[in-house]
Amino acid sequence: MHPTQRGVEMPPPTGWYPEPRDKFQFAFLPMIDCFARICYNTPKGVFTVIYIGCHLSVTNGCLAMGETMLGFGGDTFAFFTRNPRGGKSREIDPADAAALSALLAREGFGPLVAHGSYTMNLCAANPATLQNGLEMFADDMKRMAYFPGQYYNFHPGAHVGQGAEKGIELISAALDRFLTPDLPFTVLLETMAGKGSEVGGSFAQLRQVIDGVAHSEKLGVCLDTCHVWDAGYDIVNDLDGVLTEFDKTVGLSRLKAVHLNDSKNDLGSHKDRHEKLGQGRIGADALRRAVRHPALQGLPFVLETPNDDAGYIEEIVLVKEWMAEA
Ligand SMILES: [Zn+2]
Ligand SMILES: [Zn+2]
Repeated sequence: MHPTQRGVEMPPPTGWYPEPRDKFQFAFLPMIDCFARICYNTPKGVFTVIYIGCHLSVTNGCLAMGETMLGFGGDTFAFFTRNPRGGKSREIDPADAAALSALLAREGFGPLVAHGSYTMNLCAANPATLQNGLEMFADDMKRMAYFPGQYYNFHPGAHVGQGAEKGIELISAALDRFLTPDLPFTVLLETMAGKGSEVGGSFAQLRQVIDGVAHSEKLGVCLDTCHVWDAGYDIVNDLDGVLTEFDKTVGLSRLKAVHLNDSKNDLGSHKDRHEKLGQGRIGADALRRAVRHPALQGLPFVLETPNDDAGYIEEIVLVKEWMAEA
């Protein structure tokens, strides 16, 4: 059985509000896809199932990342727009970025998921830290102009004792400054583990941030499997229930990408320590179900597991096996 026929074996749960994408993709596209694979022997069919890749270093430039991911067998990837721990980053070479865009189109890659710096805090209590975060965000918006159609994902922030309401207000206000109708890419809020005073540890908080932004059509969400598990969403025993809650609170149409990670810790631990696929508390079965879930098809899945290149290649192969299973 072709992997995209999974809709047959796993019908959407009751109370589901299917997006047009789901309806179309799970009824009609799999048939075309299967037909194309049989008749034309295309490697992935006409329509990919999910896109899979991992986090890559930008050290050797843009095109080099695309070539590396081709070698890894993936069809999406993530990269830091700048030094993840802060500091200056080198300028992006427009010709190099254009060469990457050509590779992505030629090879049928899914959207890339660029990642903002960990030190950027759009709701910091310290005025200098907040100003620094706003400057980093502004600079990232300029950098992302070289990656039209891709995603820019960032950690919403930590309110550091100001309270979640104040934090949410500050994040929305910051986004409101930068999200304009002509932005050529989409900004993604990452679901967080709720460690310390992190904002984004619940779907309701993400909804509140989105509601405070005028041009929220430029805003989406990246769901991190380790983070939501650590935040207390039981994706092991009730993935359908978690996604239904996401749909009711945020809306599945906002869900643009997935960070596919296992967790070193238990449900609701609020720790945020990633683990290799199948070696943590979420486990291979639950991650496999996420990869194959109807509501998550067509999205880029990015591995942020503690791996070297060989480990990432193994996990990309593993995820592709999950996708291909009957
Ligand atoms: Zn992240
Ligand atoms: Zn994390």
